[in-house]
Amino acid sequence: MTQNKTTTAKAYAAASATTPLAASTITRRAPTDQDVQIEILYCGVCHSDLHFVRNEWGFTQYPAVPGHEIIGRVTATGKAVKKFKVGEVVGVGCLVDSCRTCPDCQAGLEQFCNGMVMTYGSADKHLGGGTLGGYSQGIVVTEDFVLRIPANLNPASAAPLLCAGITTYSPLRRWKVGPGQKVGIVGLGGLGHMGVKFARAFGAHVVLFTTSPSKAADALRLGAHEVVISKDAAQMAAQAGSFDFILDTVAAVHDLNAYINLLKRDGNLVLVGAPGEPLAIAAFPLIMKRRSFSGSLIGGLPETQEMLDFCSAHHITCDVEMIRMDQINEAYERMLKSDVKYRFVIDMATL
Ligand code: NAP
Ligand code: ZN
Ligand code: ZN
Repeated sequence: MTQNKTTTAKAYAAASATTPLAASTITRRAPTDQDVQIEILYCGVCHSDLHFVRNEWGFTQYPAVPGHEIIGRVTATGKAVKKFKVGEVVGVGCLVDSCRTCPDCQAGLEQFCNGMVMTYGSADKHLGGGTLGGYSQGIVVTEDFVLRIPANLNPASAAPLLCAGITTYSPLRRWKVGPGQKVGIVGLGGLGHMGVKFARAFGAHVVLFTTSPSKAADALRLGAHEVVISKDAAQMAAQAGSFDFILDTVAAVHDLNAYINLLKRDGNLVLVGAPGEPLAIAAFPLIMKRRSFSGSLIGGLPETQEMLDFCSAHHITCDVEMIRMDQINEAYERMLKSDVKYRFVIDMATL
């Protein structure tokens, strides 16, 4: 479909895998009847943004504009839009469209649809080229992929719920984490700190695994009952065979077998971290106790709204450090050093 009245928006884009993000101007489509036009107020910085910009997953097309933890204000709505009004604060996460008809879409699991359109890095069927994400002034999204943001959530602190929140909420719900269970969260970054908050809110006994001893006090404050320094072999050995469930949020290659060994019989290790290189799995830790290893990808639209409403009811938001748009490249370097407490959020007024 070709559009006539496109608009331009200021943005931050990478021109190649090795160039820093820099100011640029992009094109957004004119809203169709089903579309919501959004002025972006805040955008969270996910480690996936960094993987994508640096082409660590191998499918990035340039120019690349990342950002999929978007909070903004509605500035216009198409004629057929029913759920949103101009002026309302809304959210957009990792998905902006899907086929709407396949079994995954009908089950509300749009993230698994073969025709799903990611907020950045998918083919843009309206304008051609790739979809461009939230490090920008504005975005136009079909209303079914726009989320309601409960009024009692601080908009800047709610932004990372749109990816870090749903990515940890979804597997904890699917594997029915709750009272009486011992649950591990590996890595205290953007995803990990939300995993700790949700696992605690669901009633589990929560153990945080970290490579950063300096984060131990924060982990307890965020809701962990125990902290294990994963580089300390004796601390790891003391936890062997004791976990019902472990959620691994680590962004780099690391030893999964060390965590599989910590599971009880029939326990589950679920990976959400997405390093670009393969991770080695040894046979014996898995087969000896019938343990399982699985992955999980963000969450569908209904579950994302459920998560936002859960956060509203339980007063849960993210611990954020606000940055200016021109601090993004420095923020990426800090993220690589595990120096984030615990999610950077860009104030889009600084664009
Ligand atoms: P992040 O804020 O950078 O946090 C990652 C944490 O992993 C770090 O804070 C650090 O925690 C730990 N870590 C880093 N390097 C490590 C290493 N070499 N060995 C052991 N631990 C290490 O990243 P994020 O935004 O939470 O994202 C985490 C990963 O999830 C990324 O790969 C991202 O692409 C992926 N992701 C997946 C999905 C999905 O749907 N599956 C969605 C969003 C993001 P400590 O300092 O506590 O050790
Ligand atoms: Zn993300
Ligand atoms: Zn579909």
